[in-house]
Amino acid sequence: MSDVADLLSATARAAAAYLEGIDERPVGATVEPAELAGRIPSDFPEAPLADMAVLDELLHISRDAVLATGSPRFFGFVIGGALPAAIAADWLTSTWDQNAGLYVAGPAAAALEAAAGRWILDALDLPRDSSFAIVTGCQMAHLTCLAAARHQVFADVGWDVERDGLIGAPRVRFLVGAGVHVTVARAARVLGFGDACIETVAASDMGEMDPVALERALDSEPGPAIVCAQLGEINTGAMDPVADLVEIAHDHGAWLHVDGAFGLWARASAALAPLVPGVEGADSWATDGHKMLNVPYDCGIAICAHPTAHLAAISVHADYLMHSHDERRDGVDWTPDFSRRARGIALFAALRSLGRQGLEELIDRCCANARRMGAGLQKVDGAEVLNRIAYNQVLVGFSDDARTAAVIEHLQRGGECWVAGTHWHDRDAMRISITGYRTTAADVDRTVEAIRDALAATA
Ligand SMILES: *Cc1c(COP(=O)(O)O)cnc(C)c1O
Repeated sequence: MSDVADLLSATARAAAAYLEGIDERPVGATVEPAELAGRIPSDFPEAPLADMAVLDELLHISRDAVLATGSPRFFGFVIGGALPAAIAADWLTSTWDQNAGLYVAGPAAAALEAAAGRWILDALDLPRDSSFAIVTGCQMAHLTCLAAARHQVFADVGWDVERDGLIGAPRVRFLVGAGVHVTVARAARVLGFGDACIETVAASDMGEMDPVALERALDSEPGPAIVCAQLGEINTGAMDPVADLVEIAHDHGAWLHVDGAFGLWARASAALAPLVPGVEGADSWATDGHKMLNVPYDCGIAICAHPTAHLAAISVHADYLMHSHDERRDGVDWTPDFSRRARGIALFAALRSLGRQGLEELIDRCCANARRMGAGLQKVDGAEVLNRIAYNQVLVGFSDDARTAAVIEHLQRGGECWVAGTHWHDRDAMRISITGYRTTAADVDRTVEAIRDALAATA
């Protein structure tokens, strides 16, 4: 074997060993920070190191220092696993090293990205003539969609924001629900809508935006406006009543953007889609590949019902670029990135390996396991399920904040499962997110027992 084949085979063996052991290994990363730092040369080494030795060093440094996000009992934040076909595709993405900005710089990458986007519009039942962009995550998907929104709402009042910028521009209102994700506010800030221009619309206890409050807010002052709805509140999984919000926003000439980082995938399930009706009427949608779809990091998707606004806000022109101007897709026109990784390849592989049936089964199983987790925890003395479990999130309270912290710490150290905390409605809580494709009902039951044990151990 050549040196490179040796190196890649050794890498494949290490990766396979990791994945084959994922069910048994402790879920948490147990290394002490000082020990981890001590494994890494502090100064930039003078001499080169052989490739195989670099691999060995990486494996040595990362021992007990990798959080097993692919474990079937990993429930932290909202972090999905990585489907095998998508991991393989991701390796090829690095191997081929295409610059996915231009069709001519990588035809296969561009064609696979185009197909992945088309399939996602189909799977999520969004308007098939929408434009899309594959970006690093929902954060950048917001930035992309809200740039298109900004273009359109200004164009509607005769202001060319791409040409004239924001100085002297008419006022545009920016409305979000009380349960909004921080990434929406950051995208707004980068686009020139400072925190002080963000208006918060009342939401229910679970975090669903109140349509009556939105209507009242829009009635109070006519004029251009962008409204951000949400599918999947990060603590409770709650879904905004998007159909109502779309109608109200459009009656007032406003653009309705949907943050559907993980909740938008309810649309891929016949059982769950009725939870989120009317979403197809929105103007733009941001979602993630690296959460419910289990594409390895990173992968986000921006979708826009108004391709002309999307292009006006984002596309670039330079004489040397060799734009295609036909059915060939130039990624550079749709994403804020210029040179970019061919993320569409892993996204394509995830969708191809699942098919419509596998995707639906994955989403349904995550949500069924969340309900099972909730039902199991309801029978544990000292644990209280705080949310209505309509999707994949389970929010758990304990007697007081100190106990909550102790239970979470005990679980994170114990290795059987991994959960994180949050602050919700004036109390600390434990947040369980079921997003990984490996989790089974048996893993849920083991986790309920681990939580029962953690309660006993911290009494
Ligand atoms: C995760 C998440 C985001 C941010 O997504 P990234 O992929 O981390 O950029 C935005 N909104 C919601 C509701 C999320 O859950």
